[in-house]
Amino acid sequence: MRRISVFGATGSIGESTFDLVMRAGGAAAFHTVALTGGRNIARLAEMARALDADLAVSADEADLPALRAALAGTRTECAAGPAALVEAASRPADWVMSAIVGAAGLAPGLKALEQGTTLALANKETLVAAGPLVMATAAAHRATLLPVDSEHSAIFQALKGEDIAAVKKITVTASGGALRDWPLERLASATVEQALAHPNWAMGKRITIDSASMFNKALELIETREYFGIAPDRIEAIIHPESIVHSMVAFRDGAVMAHLGTPDMRHAIGHALNWPDRAALPVAPLDLARIGQLTFRAPDEARWPALRLARDVMAVHGLAGAAFNAAKERALDLFLDGRIGFMDMARVVEATLDRLSGECSLARDPQGLADVMQMDNLARIRADEAAARLPAA
Ligand code: NAD
Ligand code: MG
Repeated sequence: MRRISVFGATGSIGESTFDLVMRAGGAAAFHTVALTGGRNIARLAEMARALDADLAVSADEADLPALRAALAGTRTECAAGPAALVEAASRPADWVMSAIVGAAGLAPGLKALEQGTTLALANKETLVAAGPLVMATAAAHRATLLPVDSEHSAIFQALKGEDIAAVKKITVTASGGALRDWPLERLASATVEQALAHPNWAMGKRITIDSASMFNKALELIETREYFGIAPDRIEAIIHPESIVHSMVAFRDGAVMAHLGTPDMRHAIGHALNWPDRAALPVAPLDLARIGQLTFRAPDEARWPALRLARDVMAVHGLAGAAFNAAKERALDLFLDGRIGFMDMARVVEATLDRLSGECSLARDPQGLADVMQMDNLARIRADEAAARLPAA
């Protein structure tokens, strides 16, 4: 039986993964080693019962008694806290889903790679914050890293059997998010609720706001560079409001391979779950005649400064990705708390990167997880300071 673990099982990606695992036979087809979740303890326990998991881990230690109570009478062991998440990742499994949101997903993901597992990576922050370290760890332990972001799954599939040296350009598509068609001058006043109204994808709250600000696309450009090992000047973003073309790869002979499908993350999750095979998935078939037309346009960097910042980060490389991701996470916290405006998020991130580049070497390659986490911490402090210095609205 294939041994699986799901980190971030109670989130949007985690729920879709659970759905596919249950449809593929659940506890009769998979041995579930570990399931982890943040706040929704009742749901985590329900999943652990359904899959007869060896271990259930809650992110927060305060939730351990509730988790134990919810799993009373089962054989599932309970644990909690960041160290327990890493311990769960050290348990041998054949396939591990990394779907925690944010930099908190990095340590368990790295630990899973050290076991030589196949890691299905939804947590893009892992590659943004520590790309070279993650790819080197995977290589050293003969682990397999499968992209689960829809764009990267699309690129991965378009590159099957191809030589990366023959690639001229990778085009990462972006829906443009909830505020895509707003007049530029209104964006500064956008509220959390408005930024959450994503036109195409149902996702977790944080990535939905990041889609509206294009910080999500900025992370994905960096993720593309790290995962596929392609020069930053060969990566571009394009606005594609219908979210049907999930990304494209152009080769030097002029051929462009695109991946199309309905916007449903179970395409990418299912691809990673069944790889290297293809299995039937419960996704709606693509009906192009009904959709009629697909449209594209170049992104406006005045509207989405995150894209420009991503280029700066890729040019510096080293620890710049860790700083960028942490500053972005902190700016997003502040926006969600109503303490800064929508367009202030990019200002905070830019000011943080400027400040850090003056006080330390962002271009230095991280030697280990500790280096990355140290930069992550410092960037969060600097982001708070930058936010406090923003001119009053
Ligand atoms: P989500 O917020 O719906 O779920 C996140 C999961 O992580 C939950 O189980 C939550 O309880 C857990 N969690 C949150 N904070 C944690 C912490 N500090 N420590 C441990 N666990 C914690 O998020 P999501 O939308 O499912 O996204 C998960 C990851 O996948 C993100 O990195 C996101 O960028 C990426 N991703 C998501 C989508 C999507 O469609 N939702 C698409 C592509 C990539
Ligand atoms: Mg994506």
